[in-house]
Amino acid sequence: MSAPFVSQSYRSWGGVTRTARPVAHPKWRQELAGLLGGARDRGDVLGVGLGRSYGDSGLDAGGRLICGRGLDRFMAFDPQTGVLRAEAGASLDDILQLVAPRGWFLPTTPGTRFVTLGGAVANDVHGKNHHRAGSFGLHVRRLGLIRSDRGALELSREQEPQLFFATLGGLGLTGFIAWVELQLAPTPSSFLDQEAIGFSGLDGYFDLLADSHDRFEHVAAWIDCSATGGGLGRGVMFRANWSAEGGLVTHERRLKLTLPLEAPGWVLNRWSVGAFNSLYYSVHGSRHGLRRIPYAAGFYPLDAIGGWNRLYGRAGFFQHQSVIPEGVAREAVRKMLERISASGQGSFLAVLKSFGGKDSGGLVSFPRPGASLALDFPNRGAETLDLLDRLDAIVADAGGRIYPAKDGRMSAAMFQQGYPRWRALEALRDPSFQSAFWRRVTQS
Ligand SMILES: Cc1cc2nc3c(=O)[nH]c(=O)nc-3n(C[C@H](O)[C@H](O)[C@H](O)COP(=O)(O)OP(=O)(O)OC[C@H]3O[C@@H](n4cnc5c(N)ncnc54)[C@H](O)[C@@H]3O)c2cc1C
Repeated sequence: MSAPFVSQSYRSWGGVTRTARPVAHPKWRQELAGLLGGARDRGDVLGVGLGRSYGDSGLDAGGRLICGRGLDRFMAFDPQTGVLRAEAGASLDDILQLVAPRGWFLPTTPGTRFVTLGGAVANDVHGKNHHRAGSFGLHVRRLGLIRSDRGALELSREQEPQLFFATLGGLGLTGFIAWVELQLAPTPSSFLDQEAIGFSGLDGYFDLLADSHDRFEHVAAWIDCSATGGGLGRGVMFRANWSAEGGLVTHERRLKLTLPLEAPGWVLNRWSVGAFNSLYYSVHGSRHGLRRIPYAAGFYPLDAIGGWNRLYGRAGFFQHQSVIPEGVAREAVRKMLERISASGQGSFLAVLKSFGGKDSGGLVSFPRPGASLALDFPNRGAETLDLLDRLDAIVADAGGRIYPAKDGRMSAAMFQQGYPRWRALEALRDPSFQSAFWRRVTQS
C-alpha cells in the first residue's frame, strides 16, 4: 500500500508562493513504485524535501508532490572511510548528529542544516569552501533513482553516467532520489578558528580574496547594502579553518528561538534594514583575531531562529543569488550594489563569496568560477520585481546566471542564457516529473 495523496497547504521558503497541493508522505522506499506507477495518467509529480528552496523549484506545476522526508534511514556508514549511504530524506542535521562526533563532516554545506540529501543533490548545493571542495555533487559516489518509466536504478560516474550527472543539480526532474552515497570529509575537531576582517569597499573584498582562498578553507563576506558613495561595497570577510582543538561534539538540536507568527509587513522596512546593516558593520567592521566557534555558529547562524523567514511578513521576500564570471565580477557586483542603493530597497542580508574551478559535472548546476552575490529583498510588489529585473540585466550582460534554488521569477530568456545545457536535462527528464519552475523557464 502506498501513502495516499492528501491536500496540504504549501508555502515556498520565501513565502511569495502559497498554494494547496496533493502531497504523499511515504515511509518506506517500497511505496515509491506505487506512487509513481501510472503517474502519467494521474498528472505530474515532483519529489520534495524540507522546502528550503525560496521560490517555485520545489513546487510541482499543478500536479502532486511526494515528500521524501519520511525516508530518512541511514543504510550504511563506515567510520574508517567516511562513506555514508542514507535515504534521501535524511537531513544534514540528522547526518551531523551521527558523523560529527566520529570525526567526519559534510564535504560542503549550505547555510542551513535543514536540507535533505535529496534536496542537496537536486540543487548541487555549495558552501563557503567551494574554492577547495567544489559543490555537493562532486562528493556523491552513487545514488538510487526511481523513475516512472524505468523503475529503480543505481547511478554513478560509471553506471549510467549521463543520468547520474543530469541528477546532480537536476532540480528533481530526473526521477525520485531514493538514497545517496556520500564521501564525507575528515575533521580534527567540531570547531572552527574564524577571523573577521572589515573592508571599506569592493576593492577591499577582492584584495583580501586571494590571500583568504590560499590560507582558509571557508570564506564568505557580508556586505553592507545600506552603504552608499565612498562606503559602497563595504563589509566584513569571515574566513575560517577547522580548529585542531576543542574535541568532537555535535550541535545542540534545540532552537534558541522560534517565531510563532508572521511579523507585520512593516517590521523590515528601509530604515530598520539600514539601521541593522550600519550597526552590524560598526560591530564587526574592525579586524578581529582568531576566535574558536562551534561549527553551527560558523555555518548555520540563521538556523538558531526557527521560522526566521516569517520576519518578512505575509507578503514574503525574494532572494536573488547570481554568479558572475571572474574577469568581470568586480564591475558587475559594483553595478548591482549601485542599482540597489539607487532603488532605496536595502537587502537585509547580502552575502558575497567566490567560487573556484571544481566542476561537479551537473548539467544545470549553478556554481561556476566567479563571484556570487546573494541578496534578500522584502516583497514590495512591482517595485521589487522591477529592481530584480534590473539586477538580472546586469548579470546577463556580464555572462552570469541566477541560482534556481533561490528564484521564483526570472524570465525564460535569463535562465536559458545562463544554462545553455538545459535541453540536455530536458531530454533526460522523467516524463512524469515536472516543476512550476521548469515549466516557467522552459515553456514560456
Ligand atoms: C537559510 C538558507 C540558507 C541556504 N544556503 C545555501 C547555500 O549556502 N548554498 C546553497 O547551495 N543553497 C543554500 N540554500 C538553498 C538550499 O540548500 C536548497 O534550496 C536545497 O535544495 C533545499 O533542500 P530541501 O531538502 O529543503 O529541498 P526542497 O526545497 O524541498 O526541494 C529542492 C529541490 O530538490 C528536489 N528534491 C528534494 N527531494 C528530492 C527527492 N527525494 N528526489 C528528487 N528530487 C528531490 C525538489 O524537487 C526541488 O527541485 C539555503 C536555503 C536556506 C533557507
